[in-house]
Amino acid sequence: MSASAGIAIYPDDGDTAEEIFKNADSAMYAAKKAGKNCWRFYEAAMQREAYEKMVLTNSLRYAINRGEMLLHYQPQVVVADGTVVGFEALLRWDSPEYGSIPPTSFVPLAEQSGLIHSMGHWVLHEACRFARHLDDIGRGDVRIAVNVSPYQLAADDFVDSVSAILSETGVEASQMELEITETALLVSLDDSIRKLNELRALGIRLSLDDFGTGYSSLTYLQRLPAKTLKIDKSFIDMILTDEDQRAIIGSIVDMAHIMKMTVVAEGVETEQQLDYLRRCRCDLFQGYIVSRPVTEKEVIRFLSNRG
Ligand code: C2E
Ligand code: MG
Ligand code: MG
Repeated sequence: MSASAGIAIYPDDGDTAEEIFKNADSAMYAAKKAGKNCWRFYEAAMQREAYEKMVLTNSLRYAINRGEMLLHYQPQVVVADGTVVGFEALLRWDSPEYGSIPPTSFVPLAEQSGLIHSMGHWVLHEACRFARHLDDIGRGDVRIAVNVSPYQLAADDFVDSVSAILSETGVEASQMELEITETALLVSLDDSIRKLNELRALGIRLSLDDFGTGYSSLTYLQRLPAKTLKIDKSFIDMILTDEDQRAIIGSIVDMAHIMKMTVVAEGVETEQQLDYLRRCRCDLFQGYIVSRPVTEKEVIRFLSNRG
């Protein structure tokens, strides 16, 4: 057991008991955020942060219904010959009040508030609708990958809702891929693996996102029914900066190939990185060097230009 403590002092941090408790609470959350098992004194900035979070979460509540959410798509390309095999759907929020907010800021708020379930449902529905559209125009060979939060996977009805969305939109399961991170598995490995197997049985491909940033455990890799492994951008960045460490990438690729997995490099920005990935026999890559995440219209233009 460990304890995190927040400290607020009368009268500097508040005039009433209620205010003191509220501020001590904010300080306690700051202590947890600082790695737990420590204490923090209350500071005015903490209240501002808590307030901003609350305000943003409130607008997030209405963002989908107001049409402020949008999916962008980033191509997934074969390292060896540049063929486009799929696109990853990435959520965008253009708030009229706060401007464009990155998913790294609002996805955690959606997770903490429970909004992730309706938001994730919308994302999946929207991505399947687009995948179906691609199929209708003769590009059913192009896969669409969707990011799934650990909180979504933890919900009892997740597999059923995925299956319902597939039938509603009339999309082939094999055209869809779900990206999960290792943190999704930490809560309950057996429960997660059971659900992932059910998704596999539906015909959906699974991909392990951000590989290398978490525990990157071999046990997970062996037990997971995932066909794709995505090497996190932090490793791809090492190709340029750290000659000793970059050999790790080759080892990850070899290890994944032994497990019959396809390897995707994330966040490739330079020719030099691409060259190195070619030498390591990495299968696919995504990155600004080919394209940033773009709108549906641009996806279709991109496909007709590149085949
Ligand atoms: P991710 O799934 O690992 O997505 C890759 C991120 O890298 C994306 O950031 C993408 O725009 C960015 N990226 C791709 N190529 C490059 C590059 O060459 N250079 C640089 N600097 N960045 C590159 P984005 O769109 O901001 O998304 C961040 C994270 O937010 C995602 O990481 C994912 O974890 C989460 N996310 C995005 N959309 C969704 C969603 O619909 N649902 C859930 N649950 N999470 C999402
Ligand atoms: Mg992803
Ligand atoms: Mg990633």
